[in-house]
Amino acid sequence: MRMEGKVCIVTGGARGLGKAMVEKFAKEGAKVVYACDLNEEALKDLEKEYSNVKGYVLNVTDRKAIEEFKNKVMEEEGHVDVLVNNAGITRDALIQKMSEEDWDIVIDVNLKGVFNMTQFFAPEMMKAGKGAIVNISSVVGIYGNVGQTNYAATKGGVIAMTKTWAKEFARKGAQVRVNAVAPGFIKTPMTEVVPQKVIDYVVSKTPLGKMGDPEDIANAVCFLASDEAKFITGQVLGVDGGLIL
Ligand code: NAD
Repeated sequence: MRMEGKVCIVTGGARGLGKAMVEKFAKEGAKVVYACDLNEEALKDLEKEYSNVKGYVLNVTDRKAIEEFKNKVMEEEGHVDVLVNNAGITRDALIQKMSEEDWDIVIDVNLKGVFNMTQFFAPEMMKAGKGAIVNISSVVGIYGNVGQTNYAATKGGVIAMTKTWAKEFARKGAQVRVNAVAPGFIKTPMTEVVPQKVIDYVVSKTPLGKMGDPEDIANAVCFLASDEAKFITGQVLGVDGGLIL
């Protein structure tokens, strides 16, 4: 029971990788998992299935709403043990064709959304003297990808923020750890729209010869968020079947 008694927050927790993380934390004995997402219906389904999951409609770009959410969590639980910054979107195009709107929205959700959530919750962890933050990056943030200028910039930025916060949040003796997971290609609604020939190409370049399952990412996130990883901070764990070797 790696999450026994812990208060956890997962953004983008209604489907795909986030949902797998919420389910993993719930099964690993979390006291409560706040699943934050825009998708109210899917959150309700999760609440029905797990008594320790609370759905919360939250847009990670809305700072006022995040502050209200933080106040609610602090009122209900008094502290937060785990924050997973998972919510993310894609708006792919070659740079010649990428609109300013598509640049802005991806930066706003994937990069500033991570900043927003962390800025509100990390100080509470610092006050408590402990906590774990896991940011979801991507292999694309390490080695780039055609058609993903905006997305790659955010995922590279998430790695830079992870390392910066690992240093900032460990000051004054606080055991607040910050790590990132960099998934390869994983079967979720996000990758359902990727053309089959691109998937085939990526799989052919992956030593383990397949796409990953959401549980592969959830297991890695759970490890990094748990006390088993208590001496690990500032790291980027690739969960990609060897894709970037
Ligand atoms: P997904 O599209 O299946 O799910 C994303 C979830 O985030 C959705 O439930 C959506 O409603 C929610 N969301 C979107 N914008 C939001 C916002 N502003 N506020 C709150 N919630 C919001 O995607 P996924 O494949 O599960 O990806 C999850 C994370 O993993 C993303 O950060 C993505 O970039 C990253 N990632 C995914 C893959 C992959 O292959 N699937 C690979 C590398 C990285």
